[in-house]
Amino acid sequence: MFDAPVSFTNLNQKSKLRFAPSPTGFLHVGGARTALFNYLLTKSVGGQFVLRIEDTDTERNRPEFEEEILKSLQWLGIQWDEGPFYQSKRFDAYRKFISDLVAKGSAYRCYCTETEVDEMRKKAESLGQKPMYDRRCRNLKSGERTGPFCVRIKSPLEGEILIDDAIKGEVRVAASELDDFVILRTNDTPTYNLTVVVDDFEMGITHVVRGEEHLNNTPKQLILFRAAGFTPPQYAHIPLILAPDKTKLSKRHGAVAVSQFKEEGYLAEALVNYLAKLGWSHGNDEIFTAQELIKIFSMEGFGKSGSVFDKTKLDWFNAHYLKKLSVSELCLKVKEITKVDLTALTQKPGGQKLLEAVRDRAHRINEIPPQLSWALLADGQMPTRDPEAEKTILSVANKDFILKFLYKLTELEKSGKWNSVEIAASIKIHCQEFNLKMPDLAKPLRVLLTGSPMSPDISLVLEVLGLRAIRERISNFYR
Ligand code: GLU
Repeated sequence: MFDAPVSFTNLNQKSKLRFAPSPTGFLHVGGARTALFNYLLTKSVGGQFVLRIEDTDTERNRPEFEEEILKSLQWLGIQWDEGPFYQSKRFDAYRKFISDLVAKGSAYRCYCTETEVDEMRKKAESLGQKPMYDRRCRNLKSGERTGPFCVRIKSPLEGEILIDDAIKGEVRVAASELDDFVILRTNDTPTYNLTVVVDDFEMGITHVVRGEEHLNNTPKQLILFRAAGFTPPQYAHIPLILAPDKTKLSKRHGAVAVSQFKEEGYLAEALVNYLAKLGWSHGNDEIFTAQELIKIFSMEGFGKSGSVFDKTKLDWFNAHYLKKLSVSELCLKVKEITKVDLTALTQKPGGQKLLEAVRDRAHRINEIPPQLSWALLADGQMPTRDPEAEKTILSVANKDFILKFLYKLTELEKSGKWNSVEIAASIKIHCQEFNLKMPDLAKPLRVLLTGSPMSPDISLVLEVLGLRAIRERISNFYR
C-alpha cells in the first residue's frame, strides 16, 4: 500500500496553530508533546501560536491545574503568541453561534426528556442498533412542543464524513454512525465539540495537531463546520505515547506530569529534546536544542505508529544536557530543585572539580546532593558509614598503613602542595612503599571519609575535605 507522506498544505507564515488543554489534570507528557509539536511547527514557518484553556467542565476543572499547565509550558520554553483564551469567558460567542445555526435551520430545539432519550436508546439496543437519538424533534412545527429544551445539530442523514488526516490518511465515517448530537445542553451550556469548533473558527486556526484520542470527535466537529459554512482546519492526529508494556502511558507507569519530571531533576532542554523525538525523527539525529528544532521541524518527520516512553532514554538526554551546565548554573539548579546550597563547597579547593566529576556521572539533578553529603557536613560531624562496608572493608584495613598515610598528608599540606595531583602521587608512593595496591588504600579511605565505598576520585575527596576533616574522620574511627 502506498504510504503517503505526512504533510499539511499551506503551512506558512499566515498559519495559526494552537494548544488547547483542559485544566482537569496536570500537564502530562502526552499534552506537552502535543503542545511542543504545534509550537515547533508554528515557529518553523513563522506563524502564530495560540494558547486556549478549555475550561468548560466546571466539575473537573481546578485552578491549580491551570496554573500548573501554564507554568509547565513556560518551563519547557513553549511560548504562545496569543492567549491564553478561556472558554469559560466565551459563552456568549457559543450561544450566538448556536442561535445562528437554529435560525438557519441547521440545528433545532429538542424537548425530549432524559427518560425519553434513555428509552429510545434502549429500544435501539434491543433491536441490535447503535443507541442513538431518533431525531423525533428534528422536524417539529413551531409550538408543537414546549418546555425545557436542548439544541441538537442536524447531522447528515446519509453519505459519509471524510477526515483527510495528515497522519492517518483518509478516515471515513458513515453518517449513519452519528446522531443529531447535542450542542447546547438543557442547562444552557454549550458542549465540548461545539466550543472547539467556534473557537478554532473564530481564532482563525488553520492547522490542528492533537492526540489520536480526539479522532472520534473530529467527524462531529466537521459536521459543525459544514453546518456553519466554515472551512475546517487541517488535522493531524498523532499516535499515542505508550508505556513499555505497550499500553497507554498513565500514572501507574510512574511520573507522567511535566512538573514531576522537573521535581525529579530533569532539565527542560532534555525533556523538550526527548519529547520532540517521541513520534518525530530527523534521520538518525538525536540531539537538538529548541532553536535547532525550530529550524528543522517539519511534518515529514512525523511517525505513524505509537512511540514508547523510555525513561532510560530520557535519562540519557538529561545526562547529556547536565554535562553542558557550568558549575554555577548547576548550583542554581540544584538549589532550585533540592534546596541544597553547594556554593560554599564550590569555593573550597577542588570543589569545582568535584562538582564537575559528580555532574558528569549523574542522570538527574536530584542524584547530585546525596553523592556529596559527605562534603556538606558541618565541622566535626561524621559521615554515616555504610555498616556493610565498615564490616568488610574497614575490618581488614591496616590501621598502621592508614595512619602513616595521614602523616604523609600532613607533610604535604605543610609543604603547601595541597591539590589532587600531589595527593594522587602520595597515594601511589604510599601504596608502593607497603607493597599494596591503590584500592587497598582508596577503599578504606572512601568508607572512612565519605561513609560509602563508592565516591568520586579519592584524591579529589581528600583535597576537598582538607586535612582537618580528614584527621577528624580517621581518628573518630580508630579512637
Ligand atoms: N481540550 C482538549 C484536551 O485537553 C484538546 C482539544 C483539541 O485539541 O481539540 O484534550
